[in-house]
Amino acid sequence: MLRDLFIGLSKNQLLNAAAKNYGLKLGAQNVVAGTTIEETIESIKELNRFGISATVDNLGEFVFKEEEATEAKLQILNVIQAIHDHQVDAHISLKPTQVGLDIDFDFCLENVREIVAKAAQYDMFVNIDMEDSSHMDATLKLVDLLSADYENVGTVIQAYLHDAQNQVEKYQHMRIRLVKGAYKEPADIAYQNKSEIDANYIRIIEWHLLNGKFTSIATHDHDIINHVKQFVKEHSITNDKFEIQMLYGFRRDMQLQLAKEGYNFCTYVPFGKDWYGYFMRRLAERPQNLTLVFKQVFNK
Ligand code: FAD
Repeated sequence: MLRDLFIGLSKNQLLNAAAKNYGLKLGAQNVVAGTTIEETIESIKELNRFGISATVDNLGEFVFKEEEATEAKLQILNVIQAIHDHQVDAHISLKPTQVGLDIDFDFCLENVREIVAKAAQYDMFVNIDMEDSSHMDATLKLVDLLSADYENVGTVIQAYLHDAQNQVEKYQHMRIRLVKGAYKEPADIAYQNKSEIDANYIRIIEWHLLNGKFTSIATHDHDIINHVKQFVKEHSITNDKFEIQMLYGFRRDMQLQLAKEGYNFCTYVPFGKDWYGYFMRRLAERPQNLTLVFKQVFNK
């Protein structure tokens, strides 16, 4: 029930718009790296000091106007430039709806192409994040078209989808992020209970580790991570074939520990004024994250 409540709140456009006018509030500053590029570069430098790389996401939702999509594209181009100028270890994650997928496919394609082309100049990877299933076919079409011209593109496969194994096989030649899946999807396309999702997640992780190009395993689930550690050991899969990813601000001790143990580790670093929807989805995923809110409110 709490999950549905927070997913509902994350989609509330009035609250999303209102939150943009305020700085990071309600504890969001624990999980959002900053509102500006400068602040975000400092957060990345801090991660890099611990041997952790970053994938940077310029937060933004409900983009239905061309000017907003263009503004988001320009901001992402600026992030790429800043990563290069500061020589930090980081790459880009982007959500297609932020750069126009809900406006026009070709407009979005050209925006993403510009981003991927600029990143390619600096040998920087661009991950095209996967949103809800209503955007999936168009997102995969973007990935197909761009990967025909550029090597620095990859995407995300969600283990809750019945079709995840087919997708993993189709995209085995790419650097791929594997996740459980963050959205509420209907039972005809997605597993609904945790044990089924976890089983499918392990199945696609193992398959991609054995057959794929480079596997990003994005989870906070220690059981899954322990399973991966054991699996790579048993199959002599070397550390350069995979990385573990977690979100900024979550399980910090575990992030540092895994990096210290010598695993490639990458933190997903969201930043920007449009933090509200992202923060509500994190609360939906794990209501215990509400402690971030309570600490913030009561420490005042
Ligand atoms: P869960 O199933 O949420 O948790 C499993 C167990 O892990 C919990 O029961 C608990 O014991 C432990 N645990 C989890 N979190 C914590 C915590 N904070 N502290 C202590 N213990 C904890 N989804 C998409 O749909 N598209 C994307 O493009 C996408 N990109 C992502 C990128 C990254 C880097 C990450 C980390 C996630 C991404 N996701 C994405 C979200 C993902 O799909 C899941 O919704 C999200 O990660 C929650 O699932 P989980 O695997 O972390 O484990």
